[in-house]
Order: sequence, then C-alpha cells, then structure tokens
Amino acid sequence: MLEELKSEVVRIAKKAQNNGLCKHKSGNVSARDPETGYVCITPSGVDRDFLTSDQVCVVDFELNCLEGGKPSSETLMHIECYKERPDIRAIVHTHSAMASAFACLNRPIPSFIFELFIFHLDNGVIPVAPYALPGTMDLARNVAETVKRSDLALMERHGTIALGGDLNEAYENADYIEELAKIYYTILTLNNGQDCKLFTPEDFRKWKYPSQIKK
Ligand SMILES: [Zn+2]
Repeated sequence: MLEELKSEVVRIAKKAQNNGLCKHKSGNVSARDPETGYVCITPSGVDRDFLTSDQVCVVDFELNCLEGGKPSSETLMHIECYKERPDIRAIVHTHSAMASAFACLNRPIPSFIFELFIFHLDNGVIPVAPYALPGTMDLARNVAETVKRSDLALMERHGTIALGGDLNEAYENADYIEELAKIYYTILTLNNGQDCKLFTPEDFRKWKYPSQIKK
C-alpha cells in the first residue's frame, strides 16, 4: 500500500544521506498519507544506499506496523508530532553536524536573518526541544510540544527535526536548519562569540512586496 509515498520517502532519505544531512544511518524520514492517516517511515538501521521502498514501514497512530521492515526507533517521535500538527504531512529528522553542535549546547538559533520569520516560529527563533533519551515517549513528547509552535527545531544533545507540508518541504527545512547553523557559527566566530543585531517580529511585519514591480 501507499507505494508512491513509500518511494518518495526512499528518494528523500537517500538525498538526505547523499547531501550529508543523515550520515552513518542516522536520522529518519516519514510522510503521512492524508486519506488513511497512515505514516510511511524509514526502517531502523538500513544504509540508505541500499534502501528500497518495500523496506519502508507503514505504521498507524497506535504504533502498529502494517507493512515493511523494523520501523525507526524514533517512530514515537514522528507519530506524536503528527498528532500535534495535523497540518503537516512530512518530517525529516537529522543529526546534521553544525546544527547538532548548537543542539548539544542547548543553544537556540536566534532571528539573525530575515527569512527566519517565514517559518512557523516564535519570534523567528529556532527552539531547542529538551533532552530525553532517544526512542522514548519522553523524547517524543518533548519534541511534539516544541513543534506545536515551530516547523524547525533543534533537539538537545541529539540533532534536528524539520516539518513540512510535503517531503520536499520537510527536506528543504532540514537543509535550511544546517545552513542557518553554519551562518550563525560564522557570525559568532567573526564576532568574538557575540550575536549580530537580531531582527524583531516588528521588522517582519513591516515587510511588503515591492509596489514598484508591476505584474
Ligand atoms: Zn536521532
């Protein structure tokens, strides 16, 4: 079942590995089918180079695995996030290097760049979900609470999570977290560990598409 969605999960999981967001079998990718409510998620411990769609797991919200291999140990986290955010359809969890360093320091990424306000984020800040042991319901709840108000988040002493309306968007958001972490690291390095001037929600509210452009 859900063959098209499963092959999309495979495509995004391979892309995340090939682009360095999910090395060494880390991270996981899922997508929710709006018709059935079932979630297609990457299996546990499979090298994405060899991942095939018949290994992708189909699970329901009660954590029954209906098809595929052994579901990722972070399946609880994905399911709890979907329960909190019925508006999203895909999740990419990574251990991408620079963002994970900020996560290990329990250090949110502030609104140093204007684009941060286009995401579903409180005050343009990428928050950190509090630490809990990987694979536990405690971690699942901590992350689900955090993504109630954010499509992008760091996970304390662990990695990142990105939500999206589809798999492409969730992937782009995961990639963007890493990019932002790299820029923020560079700012701190160039500025003796200090923040640059940060944007405010008021700055963002002032933004308008330029009226000089006529279409
Ligand atoms: Zn992880």
